[in-house]
Amino acid sequence: MLGALPVEAELHKRQLSLLQSIVNSKNPTMKELLSRQANINNQNSFFSKVKRTLAQYELPTLKEVSNSKYTKVRWKHISKAAIASYWTEELLIDAEDKSTLINCNINSMRIGKTHMVWDSVMSNTTDVKRGIIKARMITGTYTLQSNKAKFNKYEINATCPLCRLEAEDITHMITRCTALHNSRLANVKNIRQYITEQFGEDGWTSVSSRRDLTTLIIDCGMTKQQGTLPLTTVDMKAIESISRRLCYQLHVNRLQKHKQLNI
Ligand SMILES: [Zn+2]
Repeated sequence: MLGALPVEAELHKRQLSLLQSIVNSKNPTMKELLSRQANINNQNSFFSKVKRTLAQYELPTLKEVSNSKYTKVRWKHISKAAIASYWTEELLIDAEDKSTLINCNINSMRIGKTHMVWDSVMSNTTDVKRGIIKARMITGTYTLQSNKAKFNKYEINATCPLCRLEAEDITHMITRCTALHNSRLANVKNIRQYITEQFGEDGWTSVSSRRDLTTLIIDCGMTKQQGTLPLTTVDMKAIESISRRLCYQLHVNRLQKHKQLNI
């Protein structure tokens, strides 16, 4: 969600940057080393590793790089783009396999790009706290009774211990739990008002089912992606900001209630 590269990719970046320095070096010993090493097939040598890295990212071959003599800036740009594109694809394939990401708009995930929840967080402690809770909900790592039941092979009851109406999953917490009604009221009203102002009553109707409203509140990028509402970036930031507040208030209220009931 932070759009950060894995360590492996950071190492590859450094490796390719070093390659560029060697290729462009005016030092005759370096030049000789390059031409000698480029033809030796030692799997553990720096140049063999570089050859594999170049192939992995579909970059020009070692020979082509040696002949082309890219400028430092140009090479940095080319290698950075190739690495980002490779890892974005890996990230998307990985994310598709993860059932916990059901509420996350994985198509908007890109290396070098942070998720909207972090883009819109203000630099104060409270909003960062809200962002952390929201990020856990988006990635499906916020633990609710239904998750506990699943982890414990259903030896624990999935029913919401606060209202006992149904299984406590994210849809229940966001849209229905009667014990959390007060923390929900004002924020959902604000979201409704925003949607109605931008898209009319029909716009609101299109997202008012429990499932669609949960999607809108957890990651409104999904609402746009699914074609439910043609949200702009401004809309998404506005909705994200209200829903982050809502999710945090529900979270705090739920914790307080759990404490009171010694759960
Ligand atoms: Zn409940």
